[in-house]
Parts: sequence; C-alpha cells; structure tokens
Amino acid sequence: MSTEPRANTIDSSNFRKLYIGGAWISPSTDNLVDVVSPVTEQIVFQVAAAKITDVDRAVAAAYEAFESGPWPRITPVERSKTLHAFAKALRSRAADFAIAWTESTGVVASMASMSPEYSIGAVDRSIEQASSFPFIEKHPSKNGANMLIHEPVGVVAAIAPWNAPLATMLTKIGPALVAGCTVIMKPAPQTPIEAYIIAECADAAGFPPGVVNLVTAGRDASDHLVRHPHVDKVSFTGSLTTGQRIASVCGDRIARVTLELGGKSAAILLDDYDLEKAAKSLAGAISVLSGQNCAALTRVIVSRSRHDELVKHLVTAMQALTIGDPYDPEIKLGPIAMKSQLEKIEDYIAKGIADGATLATGGKRPAHLQHGYYFEPTVFANVENSMAIAQEEIFGPVLCVIPYSDEDEAIRIANDSPFGLAGAVYTNDSTAAYRIARKMRTGTVGQSAPSASFAIAFGGFKKSGLGREGGIKGLLPYLETKTVMLSGEPDEL
Ligand code: NAD
Repeated sequence: MSTEPRANTIDSSNFRKLYIGGAWISPSTDNLVDVVSPVTEQIVFQVAAAKITDVDRAVAAAYEAFESGPWPRITPVERSKTLHAFAKALRSRAADFAIAWTESTGVVASMASMSPEYSIGAVDRSIEQASSFPFIEKHPSKNGANMLIHEPVGVVAAIAPWNAPLATMLTKIGPALVAGCTVIMKPAPQTPIEAYIIAECADAAGFPPGVVNLVTAGRDASDHLVRHPHVDKVSFTGSLTTGQRIASVCGDRIARVTLELGGKSAAILLDDYDLEKAAKSLAGAISVLSGQNCAALTRVIVSRSRHDELVKHLVTAMQALTIGDPYDPEIKLGPIAMKSQLEKIEDYIAKGIADGATLATGGKRPAHLQHGYYFEPTVFANVENSMAIAQEEIFGPVLCVIPYSDEDEAIRIANDSPFGLAGAVYTNDSTAAYRIARKMRTGTVGQSAPSASFAIAFGGFKKSGLGREGGIKGLLPYLETKTVMLSGEPDEL
C-alpha cells in the first residue's frame, strides 16, 4: 500500500463555498479554514470560513424549509425514499470519506476504510424507523379519537467534534431528517471535509432546498448558531467545556439540546480473568483513534495483588503497538490529530509524574519519527483515582492502572468520576459482569471488551452528556409529542 498523502484525490471544487438552501454559495468573506495533516504537518485542505451573516443565511434557509417546505409535511415513509437515495450517494463516496479522515486526523487507513459503512448505518436505521416507529399512536377513547402524534422538533443545529466527523454527523442528521426536521451541519474546523461530502450527497439525493445546510464556523459564529431563536434544537458532540456553554445557552432560551460529551471510562478486571488477554484487549482498544475516543477505557481497575503483573503485560502489549504512517498496513497507531492535542497530552504526562504515578512505559514522542504529531502508547501504574490523570479526559493513548482491594471498592473507584460514558467488566462470569454493570453509573457496559451500540443507544450518565443517540432513544429527541383528543374519527390521518 502506498503511504503517500491522498488528499488531492478528493474533488475540492465546493470547499470554498457553503451549502445553503439547496445550492453551493459563496461565503461572505474570503477567509479560509486550514486543515493540517498530523502526518506531514502541512495544510491538506482549505475550506470556507462562515461568518455570522452566513450562519444567519443557513438558519433562514432551514427555517423557511421547515415553515413552508414539503419536508416536515410528507410522511416519514415518503421521507425515507430520499433517505434511501442519500444512503446510496454516501456509499458511493466511501473511499473519499476514508481518505478525508486519515488525511485530517491520522487515523489508520485500515480503520478509516471500515468507517463509512459503519457510519452510514445511522441513515439505514433511520430509514427502517420510518416504517417501524409509530409516529401516530392511537389511545383508547370512548366515543372519539385520542392520539399521541410525534412531530418534528424543527430546525436542528448538528454540531460535530473533530475526532469522528462522519459517524457523529450522520448519527445526528439521520434521525433528524426522518423525523421531518431541517438541519444545519456545523463540523469541527479541524475536520470539515466529511460534512462537505455529506452535503454533496444530500444534493445528489434531492432533498428539498433548505432541508440540509452546511456552515463551517469557528467559535463566534458557532455560538451565534446555538443562540439563534430559529434553531429549535441543538445536537452537540464535543468537549465538556463547550457542552456546558451550549447547555446554558439552550437552557436560557428553552431550546431542546442533546449533549454527547467526554468520558473517563473504567475497565474493572475481576480475578478470574487472564491478565495477558486483558492487556492485549485494553492496548488494542486504546489504539483506536490513538486514544482520541470518547468511550476509551482509560482507567484500568485491577485487584491490588495482580497490579504489578497486569502492568507488566500492559507494557508488553503497548510496546507491541507499531507507531507511524497511518497508510502503512503494519501500523497500529497513527499520530495524535493536532499539535495542540499532542501538547495537552504531554501536559497530562507531566501532571501524572508530578502527582506520583509511576510511568511504566511511553510518555513521550517516539524518537524514530522526526515529523508528525506522534506519541508513544503510555501506561501509568499505581495511579490514585483522585489524580488529575484519572479524573480528567486526556484524549490520547494513555492508560491509568488503579488498584482495588475488593469488588465494592472497584465499583466505588469506577463511579468516582465526573463522567459516565462507557465501561467494561473483564471476567468470564456473565453473572458477575451483570451484577457489576448494574452498579456502574455509566451509559454502556460491556464484558471483557470495549462496547458501544448505536443500534440500541449510546450516551452518558453525569457529565458525559444529556440524552442518547442511536436506536429509538436517538430518534425521540428530534420529535415533539402532541396529544390530540377528538370527539370523532377524522377522515384521514
Ligand atoms: P469541542 O467542544 O472543542 O468542539 C466540538 C464542536 O463544537 C466543534 O464543531 C466546535 O467548532 C464547536 N464549538 C466550539 N465552541 C462552540 C460554541 N461556543 N458554540 C457552539 N459550538 C462550538 O470538542 P472537540 O475537541 O472537537 O472534540 C473532542 C471532545 O468530543 C472530547 O471531549 C470527546 O470526548 C468528545 N466526544 C464525545 C463523543 C460522545 O459521543 N460522547 C463522541 C466523540 C467525541
């Protein structure tokens, strides 16, 4: 496999425009957003930078499409026909999505190539819900007709983070569109290319004008989008700090909001489970997106008597992760996506050492790689759960091993976190895994592996977010319920 950059294989003819009201239009300024490759440290893409006036235009288009257009008024099954065409168009661009992801974030190409099919599953599930979900529920009535009707919530701002730009955006707009909402996509400035390709696919699928819009805004224009009185719902995935700001803006104006935020998820290892097997699983899991993964199992909780042996196996498993060019099939760990993120990880390494944790392996940039934002997979041993490295999201390939004395203490440590996104219990005993899973205050728990399901539901307890994405739980936030009580049956529904 060639290890050359491939950004120039993607048609960039729309990248200096914005998609608003069913057309590619010029933004109000010539300002551009640079997308930097973490492999070459060079600019690989440039896209338009929307200003507040561009955001206003996008909201106006989405508002008009919602207030006066056909999309919210046709049935979900009719909407699903356009969503079918959309899914087909998305699949036809799978190779571009994969390249865009690797070029912008350095995610290894083998993973990037699997991501489009996985991510488009969100649209497939929405198509299926068009016919399976009871958008009009009949309720018992003595003489007339009582109904609970699920109607679209309105104009949706879909705001995505940089780490998984395709999956996060489709998980929002799939359910929003089948519900009958109109959407404004706002990707992260570091990874906007996927949203451009999504907009091109929406254009090809033939949504009515204004149903799907794209703006690429920085902080001020994004803030304006969230505050806009014609935005009915904000669906946000990103950091806790931004989520808190958005939640307070939405709280102020009683706008609907879904938040998918950070995590500091725990893996509890029970004494029956093989430590070498666990170490391999945990090292493989933290290599995904180089640890820049909200659901990463970053706190490894092991009984005190097995702590040192686990650390030994983890060091071996982490050192076996090959680091380098993400297009090389032998490579398991690509770079960190951005310089600022690399520096943030380095700050946490310094904090961990200063707080007294034992750096068992890693903790630095690899000596053999002169360019690129690479960082060695890292294990901290003898970590106390109160340390910053155990409480705060590092968002890098860093594992913290924390000892426990008994099962109750393991659960207490797992729950002693401001976050609650994911978790795992490593054991061969499903009864024990279930018992502990029920006590963990977190959104997903798996057995002996990292787990997540957007077919069932995904989201967090506590500061990991508000609401869920995926499954029926992920459709409901795009719907308002209206109770209608009639004294007779209407001629048609
Ligand atoms: P971020 O909060 O910096 O940015 C996320 C998005 O919000 C970007 O599009 C950004 O431009 C936009 N934004 C920034 N300020 C804004 C404002 N004031 N108003 C409106 N929008 C604003 O997050 P990030 O660094 O891009 O992403 C990493 C974070 O995302 C991590 O904390 C990670 O855990 C989290 N994440 C969570 C999930 C999940 O499902 N829970 C999934 C992926 C990532």
